Amino acid sequence: MSVDRDVLCSHLKRLKLRRIRQLVEADDEEVFSGTSDPMQLLFELTSREVAARDETRRQRLYQKAKFPAVKTLDGFDFETQKSVDESRLQQLAALNFIKKNENIVFLGPPGVGKTHLATALGVCAVERGYQVRFTSAEEMVDELYSSLADGTFKQRLGRYGRHHLLIIDELGYLNMDRTASNHFFQVINQAYENQSLIVTSNRPFQEWAGLFDDTVVVSAILDRLLHHSHLFNLKGNSYRLKDKIQPSQEVTTSN
Ligand code: ADP
Ligand code: MG
Repeated sequence: MSVDRDVLCSHLKRLKLRRIRQLVEADDEEVFSGTSDPMQLLFELTSREVAARDETRRQRLYQKAKFPAVKTLDGFDFETQKSVDESRLQQLAALNFIKKNENIVFLGPPGVGKTHLATALGVCAVERGYQVRFTSAEEMVDELYSSLADGTFKQRLGRYGRHHLLIIDELGYLNMDRTASNHFFQVINQAYENQSLIVTSNRPFQEWAGLFDDTVVVSAILDRLLHHSHLFNLKGNSYRLKDKIQPSQEVTTSN
């Protein structure tokens, strides 16, 4: 029985089997001449469809994550950054913390690898199919602030809660007024026991009171953020300046 290719393609279209349709349209030699066993052919076609969908999903997850750059744990030099325990990080990379809705906090001066490690864990999560969103604290607070004007605050706040993992980078570079402090609290509160957070900050917790214009809110934020959390205190000189200064020159970084 000869096959009407146009009908076949329209079936594949209706069934949304895009990759298989492409293979049929291209009369892919490798696939269609590779076997005479129909089961084997069906297996080959469906495997390719599944692989193509996985790849599309992966790319979409990367786009939605909005990582400023793709960083990996393999690309992190643990020899240089001795204040981070590699095995602890590798354990976290197994991502049980996401299943348990736990948080991670990276504290330390600029350039010590906080954003790198936060991103690398986010990348692991995307590779495992989790929905991740990376944002700076400033960008998030600005967005929530501006949503007050057009009445979309609730939706935008809700959007931050929809990811399995929300990474809030660079808390500490801006001081928040009362409204922004409250918005920040709402993000943390919404995430509490529902979603994982990774927060990075150049300020130790003792200084967080100065970041938020409301001391009650600061303790409520810390309370929820730290209840189920993994804390890393990174130390050392900026990796950005690694090759620019001699080992004898000590750099003290503030801010
Ligand atoms: P922080 O967020 O602590 O200010 P970053 O993570 O942005 O620092 O690090 C600054 C730059 O140095 C980034 O390009 C990062 O990839 C790189 N970097 C920092 N620490 C390391 C490290 N131990 N190994 C490899 N690259 C590093
Ligand atoms: Mg950073």
